[in-house]
Amino acid sequence: MRSVLDRFLHYVQFDTQSDEASSTYPSTATQLRLLDALATELRAMGAADVDLDSHGYVTATVPSTTTKAAVPTIGFIAHVDTSPEMPGASVKPIVHARYDGRDLVLPDDASAVLRAADIPALADRLGDDIVTASGTTLLGADNKAGVAEIMTAVEYLLAHPEIPHGAVRVAFTPDEEVGRGTLHFDVDRFGARYAYTMDGGSRGDVEYESFSADAMTVTFVGFNTHPGYAKGRMVNAIKAAAAFIDRLPKDTLSPESTDGYEGFVHPYTMQAGVDRTAVRFIVRDFDTTALKRKEDLLAALARQAAEAWPGTRVDLKVEEQYRNMREVLDRHPAVVEHAREAMRRLGIAVRERPIRGGTDGSKLSFMGLPTPNLFAGEHNFHSRLEWVSVQDMEAAVRVIVELAKVWEERT
Ligand SMILES: [Zn+2]
Repeated sequence: MRSVLDRFLHYVQFDTQSDEASSTYPSTATQLRLLDALATELRAMGAADVDLDSHGYVTATVPSTTTKAAVPTIGFIAHVDTSPEMPGASVKPIVHARYDGRDLVLPDDASAVLRAADIPALADRLGDDIVTASGTTLLGADNKAGVAEIMTAVEYLLAHPEIPHGAVRVAFTPDEEVGRGTLHFDVDRFGARYAYTMDGGSRGDVEYESFSADAMTVTFVGFNTHPGYAKGRMVNAIKAAAAFIDRLPKDTLSPESTDGYEGFVHPYTMQAGVDRTAVRFIVRDFDTTALKRKEDLLAALARQAAEAWPGTRVDLKVEEQYRNMREVLDRHPAVVEHAREAMRRLGIAVRERPIRGGTDGSKLSFMGLPTPNLFAGEHNFHSRLEWVSVQDMEAAVRVIVELAKVWEERT
């Protein structure tokens, strides 16, 4: 048996950065190297139905060992790509053995320091072995910790056919970080009734509520002409857009002023010209009907701004991004309940918090595969200070195995 740490240290050597600007699928060919290696490893361990499809999705089966007929097939899913926000090539992982609260100074950049005082989740892991990168790249624990955990659990289950469980399907996917992880995911072909993404943070995290998310583009249309001869004719869309942005709420409804269950409207990029100025927003709320109210507010403020700059017109466009997975998971309470039960049996304190974002599970749940997110031990996502505890990864492996057992017993 290969340890979860061993696997993790191997997988982070692969540069699997995804690329938002790419029009190919997967967005980068480098992701296929790891996907291909995973398929090869699954075959070598004796997994069934190992497949690397034309989009790069790797799927495999741990065959059922139970005599019960009706045990549902469950799935475990992780993504292989890393964030485009931070370099992911030439990662040099470092294992800091038996963490005792000391500063973890990353050798390639002395200003990259993990301090227990700044990172409560790290202060909680005294005695654990902590893995970091070396200071100039991300680590890739998001989501290679999940990949390593699922692979290790697969090997364990295959080696222990005496453990009764239903069929377990696993999937490794590209392009989650650029929002396309599920674009070509074939839920029917995957064949699981319920699934779990292993892409969460602290030990015990069970996440089944995500934002509902839309993108909104507010475009002001003006009129441009030679500025020397523009009197009474030019209409400057930039000024209308500035008036609009100035009308946005200042102490509420923004990422910088909300947490917990509060939603927000967030202008994050703008293309400005006299003729047209487009402001791109993300709009977030846990309650899908409240999303619409936030969009109505933006529309009203935009119209006010356009009126304040006569001659401008405003165009509005809303695009659905994903929906709160809880709307689906509430109809399938066993999915979350069994995850809680598996952790309880392992003595892991369950932590339930809403995700202020989305996961592939947010999409998969609405595609017919109810999929909450469980802890993988990942921390400081998308940062050169990313870290993971080896003992958290080992705990996640045990959770996967226990979950397979719980589903069998409770059927
Ligand atoms: Zn992730």
